[in-house]
Amino acid sequence: MNGNADIIKMTTCGPLEIATFPCRTDNYGYLMRDTDSGLVAAVDAPEAAQIEAALSQLGWTLTHILLTHHHGDHIEGVEQLCAGGGVTVVGAKADAVRLPKLHKQVVAGQPWRFGDHEVRIFDTPGHTVGHIVYYLPGPKVLFSGDTLFAMGCGRLFEGTALQMWGSLATLKELPDETTVFFGHEYTAANGDFSLDIEPDNPDLLARIADTAKTLAEGGYTAPSTLGEEKRTNPFIRADTAAVARSVSLVGADAAIVFAEVRRRKDRK
Ligand code: ZN
Ligand code: FE
Repeated sequence: MNGNADIIKMTTCGPLEIATFPCRTDNYGYLMRDTDSGLVAAVDAPEAAQIEAALSQLGWTLTHILLTHHHGDHIEGVEQLCAGGGVTVVGAKADAVRLPKLHKQVVAGQPWRFGDHEVRIFDTPGHTVGHIVYYLPGPKVLFSGDTLFAMGCGRLFEGTALQMWGSLATLKELPDETTVFFGHEYTAANGDFSLDIEPDNPDLLARIADTAKTLAEGGYTAPSTLGEEKRTNPFIRADTAAVARSVSLVGADAAIVFAEVRRRKDRK
């Protein structure tokens, strides 16, 4: 990515305006503005300077930071973004000890509100044990952090394959129309790997062609939709016959199939 926050992609999801822009080497920065209340949330804080540049370009004032997990490339900008005051930092209560100082500790299953909009918190252990994702059921928007990527999923740094499969299976229950804002631009490499698993999946072939075109034009592959992931992402598809067959585990539990797909990706 070019690391230039001048290039902001805007997505409108009901009452939310969501800005997508690159940060660091391959992180995505997201800013979500609620047009009803004027509240503005950064989802994770990969790089303060890029987020500040985007805010100033949009003329938005930051009110919230929603953290998905404790890794440096997701929290590094928090301190600087909070320096002027007036910013509420939200994150998982269970991981509060290793996150920046939280003003609002959220717990999975206990809804939180962003303005008038319900936000559901899901525990998605796997990449880290304390990882959470944010889902807004009204506009059907998911911020998936490093749990679910376009045609990929996060590496298992702390959790087990069984935990990560459980996390993906939970997200798979959300509607196909859900717009997915994910943590990293890993889409080209993920597509390449996905083709090893399902070389004949027509939706995957079409998506890979689309991805190549988007990236060649300097565009961003975020956001995606959950429907696209359900049709093409070999990790979230670990419960399908096609993926089980591909890794020679027909009839095995989806978690076992997932573990094998993840293992193959790690070795690629
Ligand atoms: Zn991470
Ligand atoms: Fe990350």
